[in-house]
Amino acid sequence: MEKHEAKSRIEKLRELLNEYGHHYYGLDKPIVSDAEYDQLMQELISLEEQFPEFITSDSPTVRVGGEPLPFFDKVQHDVPMLSLGNAFNEDDLRDFDRRVRQGLTNGEPTYSCELKIDGLAVSLKYEQGKFVRGATRGDGTIGEDITQNLKTIRSIPLRLKEEVTIEVRGEAFMPKSSFTTLNEAKEAVGEEKFANPRNAAAGSLRQLNPKVAAKRNLDIFLYSISRIENETITSHHQALNYIKQLGLKINQESRYCKRIDEVIEYVQSWVEKRANLPYEIDGIVIKVDALEQQKTLGFTAKSPRWAIAYKFPAEEVVTKLTGIDLNVGRTGVVTPTAILEPVTVAGTTVKRASLHNEDLIREKDIKIGDSVVVKKAGDIIPEVVNVLLELRTGEEQDFHMPTHCPECESELVRLEEEVALRCINPKCPAQIREGLTHFVSRNAMNIDGLGERVIAQLFAEGLVEDVADLYKLKREQLIELERMGEKSVENLLNAIETTKINSLEKLLFGLGIRFVGAKAAKTLAMHFETIEAIQEADFETLKSVNEIGEKMANSIVNYFEQVEVQDLIGELRELGVNMTYTGPKLPSTEDVKESPFLNKTIVLTGKLTQLTRDEAKQKIEALGGKVTGSVSKKTDLVVAGEDAGSKLAKAEQLGITVWSEEQFIQETAN
Ligand code: NAD
Repeated sequence: MEKHEAKSRIEKLRELLNEYGHHYYGLDKPIVSDAEYDQLMQELISLEEQFPEFITSDSPTVRVGGEPLPFFDKVQHDVPMLSLGNAFNEDDLRDFDRRVRQGLTNGEPTYSCELKIDGLAVSLKYEQGKFVRGATRGDGTIGEDITQNLKTIRSIPLRLKEEVTIEVRGEAFMPKSSFTTLNEAKEAVGEEKFANPRNAAAGSLRQLNPKVAAKRNLDIFLYSISRIENETITSHHQALNYIKQLGLKINQESRYCKRIDEVIEYVQSWVEKRANLPYEIDGIVIKVDALEQQKTLGFTAKSPRWAIAYKFPAEEVVTKLTGIDLNVGRTGVVTPTAILEPVTVAGTTVKRASLHNEDLIREKDIKIGDSVVVKKAGDIIPEVVNVLLELRTGEEQDFHMPTHCPECESELVRLEEEVALRCINPKCPAQIREGLTHFVSRNAMNIDGLGERVIAQLFAEGLVEDVADLYKLKREQLIELERMGEKSVENLLNAIETTKINSLEKLLFGLGIRFVGAKAAKTLAMHFETIEAIQEADFETLKSVNEIGEKMANSIVNYFEQVEVQDLIGELRELGVNMTYTGPKLPSTEDVKESPFLNKTIVLTGKLTQLTRDEAKQKIEALGGKVTGSVSKKTDLVVAGEDAGSKLAKAEQLGITVWSEEQFIQETAN
């Protein structure tokens, strides 16, 4: 980056971070997610490292927290209340360990690891064992006196078990359950809800009426001693024990680790487990345990060198949208896809995200070159959440959908009641390719070794124009293709051959009939058993099948009416492709009546060892049950395999019946 560009980016980032910080620290109402804030902060830190000439003393990279609110008495912290440096992955943790080792003149470091409670840092002062003052962190040097509000937290003793003069620090927080109750109550009276438990805790403690704070069911964990008379403590974990001995509440999950590998293991163990905690945590704090070593390492302007906060993988991240690609799908729908600068979201790299249609692009005001927030919807599919309009430079470009198909140049149409633009040319090569790719995909015919690339190759060479052509492929044709050896040709032909005996639903789904998904294909195949029976079924007959609606019934009738389709089916039959249902038969009415799963909602979780998820699901469905993905009050039963995680915990919490895989197999035997 050029110097002048860096300067303006730095100024922009500072302005934004100050603005976000004001909303977060000052008003307890964040306007962006923590992950976004952290990411912009990391960018600023790295730009300031590259261009130190632009560092200023008021940069958010060196300032702690926010200004204290004017209506509280101010408290001067004798020992500053600092922030923590951040680590976002294993490498960052190892770097921290390396820096610590370099900074220590003698002795190996050991670490104390604690949950990073997402609340509000407070300092409690006790004189001769008596609670005299409680303060917020404020800007690190000057905090707010919130003694009266803190006194309403039951776990803060007004008297310690020893008559000691001490100042301790910790995190006041709102348990998840109190947060839910509070927001429900706010919603009921039409008040604005709190964004998260952290802001709810801060908002409750930073308002003037202690009666309000008292109602909020706040709690606290203490995690350090900032001042003590006659000190004999030599390590952080000793300090925690002493705090506990005084009658103050500490968090029980902390762990003393001898090596960084142990730290990493501890950190990883919380990535999933944290969902089960009754309070929010946003990371793990790792502290050098020996106080003498902490002293040697000292502080930067903003944070101790002997501690670091590991932040859990972000679910929302900022990245740059560098372009918009167009994709013509199997049904001719032209979908714009965002090309993103690769970024890690919830643990995996994301490079593209569907933008669905032009309306959505307009709605979100997306331009090429924008900084955008990306998340994984339902934890799987990347999605552009919003644009950071504040980061626009003026160089961004508007995007317009084309009027013609990017693949075959036919004019695109917008069908009635649809937002999508479609290419309606049935010979459009993109549609044919996509249709073929769908036919060979896992839930359809599942032809091993035939992916998008080979399909494109076969199509480009004119070897395959429709799905029947796949079954006509010859060794001599394939061997001519680039990157196709003797072995791969043999494997491919075998793979194609073996799919001829697939059960009907695979073919039915593979044909790509509009609205007929894998599940509906299965229902149809089980019900009608042969493709002829489906072809012969009229609208009413189809509609009378459970789960087949009007739209689908109509589409099936229309599909099979087409002469080309009838020819194709005939051709496939002649080529030896099976057209009957060969899966487990529908259980008899008697079986279903006696089934323990009848009309029950079941969740499968953990690793099943004796049967696949799909097989388990089929069994349940055949016996009249429904399988869903997440545990809720509506769940009747959870089948838990090995290493079941948060779903099992939730089931136990809600008192839902849990079966092992073994038990499930016994119950579904016969
Ligand atoms: P920090 O959250 O990175 O870490 C320091 C704080 O951790 C301490 O002050 C203390 O409150 C807390 N903490 C919790 N458990 C602890 C433990 N066991 N031991 C020690 N400390 C513990 O630093 P920060 O300066 O308070 O805030 C920065 C963070 O706040 C950012 O990383 C961001 O996620 C969030 N933030 C968000 C916005 C926003 O707009 N969303 C704005 C500003 C800050």
